[in-house]
Amino acid sequence: MYGIGVLKGMAVTLKNFLRPSFTVQYPEESLPQHPRFRGQDFVWYEERCTGCASCAKYCPLGIIRIVTDPSGVATPQGDKYKVLAFDIDLGRCMYCGLCVEGCPYDALHMGSGFERARYRRQELVIPVEELRRMPKRPSTWFRPQMETKGYDPRMGKELPWQEAGRHEAPDVEKMKERWVKER
Ligand code: SF4
Ligand code: SF4
Repeated sequence: MYGIGVLKGMAVTLKNFLRPSFTVQYPEESLPQHPRFRGQDFVWYEERCTGCASCAKYCPLGIIRIVTDPSGVATPQGDKYKVLAFDIDLGRCMYCGLCVEGCPYDALHMGSGFERARYRRQELVIPVEELRRMPKRPSTWFRPQMETKGYDPRMGKELPWQEAGRHEAPDVEKMKERWVKER
């Protein structure tokens, strides 16, 4: 019968009209993200980072720039290079997470935040100083082992670098000993 479709449509409208709202007035209110959400604010643990630049090589867009100190502060094996620059251009990032997957030392993690909008593209580049300052609340994406240790970024607590990896922190002294023996 003509008009049935209209009545059905109105019924759907009425049903949704009476439902409690599940949207919030952002930015006054915001909804918590999933712990494995791939957020904008990358978390970098300098203590775990060797400056190997695997993350930069894995990035399909080439938007990670790493400069290490060539002065010999570190030896080629068994120690780490001092990182002078570590910039990530968020304006071009597609949050694929390949850089995080490619990091052999669990030093780089996706962040858990999403409020890093800026007016200018150049302000979307995260320089190393900012990476150092950023709160260490990594997403548990690609690192579900952190969840098994009881960590959840939504709890608001920062995660120390010793607990941020799938692997134990490398024993630099042992690596040095081995290197010296092998020479
Ligand atoms: S998330 Fe993807 S695009 Fe973004 S920096 Fe990492 S590898 Fe590059
Ligand atoms: S974040 Fe990881 S992959 Fe990137 S330079 Fe540091 S240790 Fe290497």
